[in-house]
Amino acid sequence: MRRINHWIGGQTVEGTSGRTGPVWNPATGEQQAEVDFASVEEVDRAVATAKEALIGWRAVSLSRRSEVMFHLRELVDANRKEIASLLTSEHGKVLGDALGEVARGLENIEFACGIPNLMKGGYSEQASTGVDVYSIRQPLGVVAGITPFNFPAMVPMWMFANAIACGNTFILKPSEKDPSASLFIGELVKQAGLPDGVFNVVHGDKVAVDRILEHPDIAAVSFVGSTPIARYIYETGTRNGKRVQALGGAKNHMVVLPDADIDMAADAAVSAGYGSAGERCMAISVVVAVGDAADPLVDAIKARLPKLKVGPGNEPDSEMGPLITREHRDKVAGYLDTAAEQGATVVVDGRGQTVPGDGFFLGVSLIDDVGEAMDCYRDEIFGPVLSVMRVDTYEEALRLVNDNPYGNGTAIFTRDGGAAHQFQFDCNVGMVGINVPIPVPVSYYSFGGWKASLFGDLHMYGPDGIQFYTRTKVVTSRWPDPATSTVDLGFPQVR
Ligand code: NAD
Repeated sequence: MRRINHWIGGQTVEGTSGRTGPVWNPATGEQQAEVDFASVEEVDRAVATAKEALIGWRAVSLSRRSEVMFHLRELVDANRKEIASLLTSEHGKVLGDALGEVARGLENIEFACGIPNLMKGGYSEQASTGVDVYSIRQPLGVVAGITPFNFPAMVPMWMFANAIACGNTFILKPSEKDPSASLFIGELVKQAGLPDGVFNVVHGDKVAVDRILEHPDIAAVSFVGSTPIARYIYETGTRNGKRVQALGGAKNHMVVLPDADIDMAADAAVSAGYGSAGERCMAISVVVAVGDAADPLVDAIKARLPKLKVGPGNEPDSEMGPLITREHRDKVAGYLDTAAEQGATVVVDGRGQTVPGDGFFLGVSLIDDVGEAMDCYRDEIFGPVLSVMRVDTYEEALRLVNDNPYGNGTAIFTRDGGAAHQFQFDCNVGMVGINVPIPVPVSYYSFGGWKASLFGDLHMYGPDGIQFYTRTKVVTSRWPDPATSTVDLGFPQVR
């Protein structure tokens, strides 16, 4: 069985804990590798390596850090297909979607290429007579990222690109379900010229995570995953004196007003509901149909579903791949039973769509007449199940969005600019789409939900990311006239 090791100090390091976890090929249902689970001592070794590397890396010039990020950008770009095929093999998502994941991750490396500009401070000349005051941004030290299974390349890039560009050194604890992309990225980071020990990967489970949360030499933790674990990470990490941003789960509503273009709304609901088999934190899981929109919208969504091709992610015509594990597939399928028992109408039952073999496939499902008390509404299903709720007014739709404990993303479909503008003002959600079903911000804005979708003060990547991975220092200075100077007519060449 192929063994997936840690990446510490610029090389692969075999695990010694004696504990491993299985890595499946979700499209075939077969185990394809086993991944090392780090012990406390192995996490400590990675942290010690990162701490040692910090001394040199935090002193490297901004222009050199930018140059390394440009190299990394080229390498990730040149290896898009290789990374995407690793994602498809371990996560199951179709190749086109995996390529999209790499592209959205790459944006964050591109953003980090501008680090000299992003690290700028402020300057006040003559704050007092002969006294200048200025602020500088400095890295935090060794920082860690703990990431979920559903974006094994993009979410690590959300974190490490800015963290490293800011001068920190980084420990990544990727999902144990699809760990290979992070190792491949480790190789690229080395080729890009990043000094050994600046980027490290430790694989593992709660043992590794808990050591990260307790380790006195880790200054900050970024987390993306489910809400119960996000809450735990935030509470434990902050109790141990760390800066923490912990992004959690979601239940994203798409409100469709009666004046919306129904075909456009149906296309969007299908794409955003079933893309990546619904295993996206920004997936639409609930369509809230207002008034007359409901009947034509449900008909339009239903009409599109038989045409969707479910199959292995590496087959060119597949539009939706399998779920991540057998257990998760079975759990998602269970919501169809409870929905029917609790009074909803199962319009399309994905359990009827089978794919040959033993992969973790589940076809697409559509549930109508969903009510607030039903399990399929209360829980984050994280699978290819789209619920439809029918309401009479915009106000009822808004109440559903705002009463929901999650506040990651939401969308409104309408031709009425005033209604859309009002919704943008009214909704208690961190990311809003207007006729855009998955409003994932571009890398120069920041990503984050509200309520139970985010614990901490700062969102992920973009300007918030720079703020998260740095702290400011304010200097007050007074100088006598300079005593010495030299003449040099050339442009400076040294970085
Ligand atoms: P998860 O919470 O199970 O795991 C996330 C990470 O936490 C993994 O690295 C895992 O090893 C670790 N972990 C799991 N259980 C742990 C425990 N008991 N103690 C310590 N660490 C633990 O999430 P997942 O199933 O990998 O990912 C899916 C979830 O992530 C969904 O809820 C989804 O909405 C959420 N997600 C959120 C965002 C966002 O930006 N808000 C983005 C992607 C995914």
